[in-house]
Amino acid sequence: MDYDAIIKGGRIVDGSGNPWYKGDIAVTGEKIASITRFIKPEAEQVIDATGLVVAPGFIDAHSHADSSTLFYREMESIVAQGITTVVAGQCGSSIAPINPNLREELEKRWAGWLPPEIEFGITWTTFEEYLREEEKDGLGANVAHLVGHGAVRVASMGFEARAPTAGELEAMRGHVEEAMEAGAYGLSTGLIYPPGIFAETPEIVELAKVAARYCGVYDTHIRGEGKTLMESLCEAIAIGKEADIPVQISHHKAATKSFWGKSVDTLTLLEKVRIEGVDITVDQYPYKAGSTSLVTCLSPWAHEGGMERLLERLKDPGLRLRIQGDIEGGLPGWENFAGELGWENVYVTSVKTDENKYAEGTNLLEIQEHRGDADPYTSLFDMILEEEGAAGMVIFAMDEEDVRRIMRHPLQMVGTDSGASGTTGYMRRGKPHPRGYGTYPRVLGRYVRESGIITLEGAIRKMTSFPAQRFGLHTRGLLIPGMQADIVVFNPETVIDTSTYQDPHQLPLGVDHVIVNGELTVHESGPLGTLSGKTLRKDRDQSH
Ligand SMILES: [Zn+2]
Repeated sequence: MDYDAIIKGGRIVDGSGNPWYKGDIAVTGEKIASITRFIKPEAEQVIDATGLVVAPGFIDAHSHADSSTLFYREMESIVAQGITTVVAGQCGSSIAPINPNLREELEKRWAGWLPPEIEFGITWTTFEEYLREEEKDGLGANVAHLVGHGAVRVASMGFEARAPTAGELEAMRGHVEEAMEAGAYGLSTGLIYPPGIFAETPEIVELAKVAARYCGVYDTHIRGEGKTLMESLCEAIAIGKEADIPVQISHHKAATKSFWGKSVDTLTLLEKVRIEGVDITVDQYPYKAGSTSLVTCLSPWAHEGGMERLLERLKDPGLRLRIQGDIEGGLPGWENFAGELGWENVYVTSVKTDENKYAEGTNLLEIQEHRGDADPYTSLFDMILEEEGAAGMVIFAMDEEDVRRIMRHPLQMVGTDSGASGTTGYMRRGKPHPRGYGTYPRVLGRYVRESGIITLEGAIRKMTSFPAQRFGLHTRGLLIPGMQADIVVFNPETVIDTSTYQDPHQLPLGVDHVIVNGELTVHESGPLGTLSGKTLRKDRDQSH
């Protein structure tokens, strides 16, 4: 046999943004061996792609898959939508490094988000040790990691709500350096979450400088996406300038109704600073709702010292009243979701106790009614206590016009902002945001085919070569001989997401075949459980 696999007769959209062309693609081992008009079918496997699009495997620019790579390696919800590489460790929240003194608390925190069937133990301390753990077996998709500022801060100074001492800052620098040496692709921050929320700009600049030395990226969930959107973007820009590092704005949006339309200003600002030489780009998921942890509804001060302390505070009637006052009146610089969006727009997505299962997929007003509480504050506080902080939420905060305006912009690339789920077994859990199953097919079905607001080739570029360029995934994201054989074959007439807020665990339609590092991972729309994905280490992702 000349080749391991040949994909015949498809329309090749190569990821560059160029128009499609007709051709056959041959794969040998992990690599694309040949692309030409006709390849004589001498291969073990021949995929007939007549009428289908053949594109580079999608690269998820914003993933939280690292929360489950060690025990759910198949990553069904990810590979089924054509994603072959994810960039994880986002929003300041990487799973390494670990503070050895807080190992138990951190274990509890992560485990709270995992199915109870999983015995989760943190056996690593450094980033290198974590990557080695992940490398012990294959993965459904390739995983590139960022090191999270939150993890680095906790590793150095716990959940303290203050600036680091000189010694602590030095320790944080050391952690970033260790992670970058190990092969991290950059530094992420989550500045609405503790402990990122406690960090001031100079601290982040210092750490971004370390990532910059290793040619990494600064990827940021900015301090505010509503009232403080513009100043939060300016902070990210300032960090990019001062640390001389490329900046990626995570899940770019204009949140809450009073700021709808703001994307006109944000995109103008980004264009302007790019002219000045700031290398800044954004990623986005194609939905009007966001998703995060329910405890994010509480005032920043309530998070000081970690989850145990937060839960203690919620038992104190006086402190409850104080949080209620903060939500009603807001606090400067705080992204106050419940207060700004209204309780009817805050939905609970996942809980761990059986007693609260009813709450999954319902909003806080419905939950208040179900419980017979006097007000939604009581419901929020009690639910957080009962779930020990591990409850997720979906918040309806965006306007479709902003979603489209950002999507059309050439600086936008696509990301899911999701971890991995599965349609069977214990990974079919809760009501996670449908973006985890549907992001890529949704862009191709609803925005390319149905509304035509972006072209097919333009959309594929935003899903492949653009994120590859941004994160330095130089052997992926384009269909060219010699590149890694990460390939997706989909039907442009039928591709669509089917996952919904009420019934999220649904695979998309029309994503027919997916190949990861030369191995078939999805065949005839069915995930095979193949584990040919790898942990990627920056500048060591071999394909030469
Ligand atoms: Zn985020």
